[in-house]
Amino acid sequence: MSAEPLSAGDPTSGPAAERTPGPSPSRRGRRLAPVRAVPPPPTTPIVRPGRHAAPDDTPDGSANEAPGTTTQRPGRLVAPETVAAPPPVVRQPPAPTPTPTPAPPPRPEPARADETPEQHAARRVRQTWTEVEPQVDELADWFAALLFSLAPESRALFPARVTEPARRLLRSLVLPMSTVDRPGELRPMLEPLVREHRALGLRAEQYEALGVALIGAMRRFGRTWDEATEHAWVRAFSLAAGPMEQAVRAAAAPAVAEGTVVGHRRLSWDLAVLHVAPDAPVPHRAGQYLTVEIPQRPRMWRPLSPATAPRPDGLLEFHVRAVEGGWVSRAMVAHATPGDRWRLGPPAGRLGLDPRSTREVLMVAGGTGGAPVLALCEDMARWTRPRPCTVFLGGRVPEDLTVLDRLHELAEHHPWLAVAPVCEDDPLDERSQPGTLPDAVVRGGDWSRHDILLSGSPSMIRATASALLVDGVPLDRITYDPFTD
Ligand SMILES: Cc1cc2nc3c(=O)[nH]c(=O)nc-3n(C[C@H](O)[C@H](O)[C@H](O)COP(=O)(O)OP(=O)(O)OC[C@H]3O[C@@H](n4cnc5c(N)ncnc54)[C@H](O)[C@@H]3O)c2cc1C
Repeated sequence: MSAEPLSAGDPTSGPAAERTPGPSPSRRGRRLAPVRAVPPPPTTPIVRPGRHAAPDDTPDGSANEAPGTTTQRPGRLVAPETVAAPPPVVRQPPAPTPTPTPAPPPRPEPARADETPEQHAARRVRQTWTEVEPQVDELADWFAALLFSLAPESRALFPARVTEPARRLLRSLVLPMSTVDRPGELRPMLEPLVREHRALGLRAEQYEALGVALIGAMRRFGRTWDEATEHAWVRAFSLAAGPMEQAVRAAAAPAVAEGTVVGHRRLSWDLAVLHVAPDAPVPHRAGQYLTVEIPQRPRMWRPLSPATAPRPDGLLEFHVRAVEGGWVSRAMVAHATPGDRWRLGPPAGRLGLDPRSTREVLMVAGGTGGAPVLALCEDMARWTRPRPCTVFLGGRVPEDLTVLDRLHELAEHHPWLAVAPVCEDDPLDERSQPGTLPDAVVRGGDWSRHDILLSGSPSMIRATASALLVDGVPLDRITYDPFTD
């Protein structure tokens, strides 16, 4: 997923074998010439501190309204000029107080004598990105507005509210840019990003506008931005986006698959199980997620994890929880109907079992995070030598454990699988133990020699990972895809 955190490591720590001299211009792909040619501040609404712009009106603007938000949009403030001015108040002039001198902005670090241009570029990208991360939403709005003024046709790729998809697109550019000093890591990262860009509908011709918009936005928000930094960003963009642009240009297969909803079963007011029959099987691995777009919420792509291992007929099962105020999940739970056509983006994600490992497996899943865990267990049931596996499946109430019956069924036929349900708010439920997932997991055994997969909300993953680390589990044994970005 494009949401992976940027590597914060020291660029000089990259494997020496991977340090390459700067490629010649012809190998770098097209360089960004017109970086200086950023147009004047865009007219597209931009969210600024204290004065939030309303979302754009688009042809499908109404379809994008979250239930209950039509009259009052969160974050929409009254323009200051529409508020009546208060009556003048006569005051004594205040006693002069010393004005604190504002701290000078930090100075960018110059290039080091012992680093290659790629190492310098990647290091500057990482440093500047760390500076702007706290303002990433404003940066994303600015980036989107610049992009739309440079390439107006790109507006149609985004929903009315651009912040979240623009943020995701930004990260998908900055992540490889921060890795241009490590070709061994960069290369495998580009393919899934290219698939993601194609699913979004980006065309090769739009990469130049992407670069200019990105650097224009960074220039606006980077506190230590200077000419050398700008050169570093241009170099990093050329090295990372050049191959992506070429791959998009060369791609022949369609970027997204389509499928038909063939089943919709509501388990409770906020939970549903959906079956989607793709027109052709979508190649993916058990544990991976797909991004999907539904007709009720055009252009609002969301990741969903299939709850079944890939099947010969390609049928996909999704377990969806409607989150409070959620635009897409509520529509999936409440309004998806058999016959709806869904668009299915490329598979991605790190959740999976390393076939070279022989260690026992611990899987911990909260709520609908059980879906990829069930898929992985179904997949392992097909292996000739499955590895002993314990699954902790947690939720607030028993209804949250949507995959529990299926896991129990598997465990009945496969002695390598043990299932431990955990319920927070229903201590009387006989099938599960009470308490929270992290407590139950730590109470349940010594996991320091297991491969561990975590799946569910970021808070559950954070709490469980922390409890396991305190309990002596090495960090590199824990794998997860948190259910957010
Ligand atoms: C790798 C991955 C796999 C996923 N798999 C599944 C799956 O199998 N089933 C499933 O139901 N969901 C899954 N999700 C979550 C899903 O993609 C959406 O994020 C979620 O449905 C909310 O989308 P929305 O448009 O309804 O909410 P939005 O309109 O995007 O957000 C509305 C509000 O809800 C909050 N929010 C967003 N996501 C969550 C969340 N997961 N939990 C709590 N609050 C949230 C937001 O911060 C915001 O305040 C997965 C996410 C990821 C990253």
